[in-house]
Amino acid sequence: MTATAAFPGISPASADSAKTLAMRAKRMKQRRQMFDLVAVSYLIDTLLLLIYAYAGTISFGTVPAYFACALVLTGGNILLSEAGFHDRFKDHYLVVPTVAVNMAVMLGFSFWVPQAAFLFLGSLFIVFSLASVRASPGQSLLCWGAMTAALAGLFLFTDRPFAMPHGSISERLATLLVLVLTIGRCIFIGMYSSKLRETLYKRGAELRDAYQRIEELAELDELTGTFNRRCIMRMLNEEIDRAERSGAPLSLALIDLDWFKRINDGFGHPIGDEVLRTFAITIFANIRSFDRFGRYGGEEFLLLLPNTASEEAEAMLERLREIVAELDWTAFSSGMKVTLSAGVATTATAESADTVLTRADSALYTAKEMGRNRIFAI
Ligand code: GH3
Ligand code: MG
Ligand code: MG
Repeated sequence: MTATAAFPGISPASADSAKTLAMRAKRMKQRRQMFDLVAVSYLIDTLLLLIYAYAGTISFGTVPAYFACALVLTGGNILLSEAGFHDRFKDHYLVVPTVAVNMAVMLGFSFWVPQAAFLFLGSLFIVFSLASVRASPGQSLLCWGAMTAALAGLFLFTDRPFAMPHGSISERLATLLVLVLTIGRCIFIGMYSSKLRETLYKRGAELRDAYQRIEELAELDELTGTFNRRCIMRMLNEEIDRAERSGAPLSLALIDLDWFKRINDGFGHPIGDEVLRTFAITIFANIRSFDRFGRYGGEEFLLLLPNTASEEAEAMLERLREIVAELDWTAFSSGMKVTLSAGVATTATAESADTVLTRADSALYTAKEMGRNRIFAI
């Protein structure tokens, strides 16, 4: 049930905008998770830089400079995201610009502080792991190409002494931590991404179940408004059980429109559909409240006649046949005639739905063989 159906006061437009708002809030929350991961990662880098500063590898000034960069980048990104800026774009994670900016930071610091390049270049792995969670194959290739070009520029056109600090024990410890924490962060991102996939898989399965349930609940045939095949078959089984219990006779009729292919071919499929609808309404209007009428398939219908013996059923079908044949079908198209043939069967004790249907089907076949526009009871 839609929000509009549940709350008649809400107009479709406001229901739509409520949906859009909910979707935006959800996307914002998803982005926030990603940005929080980036912020934590920058914080870890800053702490590692602090150890390098204590070890004398880099100047203390580098630490606040890096931290300020991280703050401006992630803080700015979060603020823009919360203000809805990202929602203006199809890729609301802005993967390529985000990778470009973070890559520029890492490569820039590698250039300015080559003594700690090991840390900054290691962080590129994290940038790319995070990007791969949301990037399309095209975006990944683009980012990888840009990074290759930028790294080539840095390594081939500068002579900066990029280092992996290992002089003193504190430097060795810091470098060890850089390695361990970089790999750790990549693993964490991998786990995050597999959790996302698992959630998506679960949602997909839930959606499939829900769709199946909706299909099961749907009882009516879309075109004719009669019961659909699943429903009329369920009713047939119920009526057979009821007849068994009560001992009352149950009759049924398989009704098929004659030469329907010719109607489609001669007047067009949409007119054929209209004929099916009119036929269904006509039958509905002329059966008892406890009779059940459903579409068995195509232009073939199943009519259940509870509490009805063979002769009575045959007479009822004969009446329906006359009504349909005498209807003024020329309203659809001049020269149009529609007739039906039906096979009638009455259940014998302990007879299954399949066997009684087979009998009705062979009765229908006989009615067709005998020239159509007739009823044959078995
Ligand atoms: P018969 O007297 O032997 O029953 O001849 P027929 O032409 O009615 O029999 P056949 O089974 O060959 O053709 C049935 C036709 O019904 C073919 C199919 O295109 C048409 N049909 C089935 N479902 C629909 C539908 O939903 N709409 C329309 N317009 N035509 C349908
Ligand atoms: Mg037919
Ligand atoms: Mg048919």
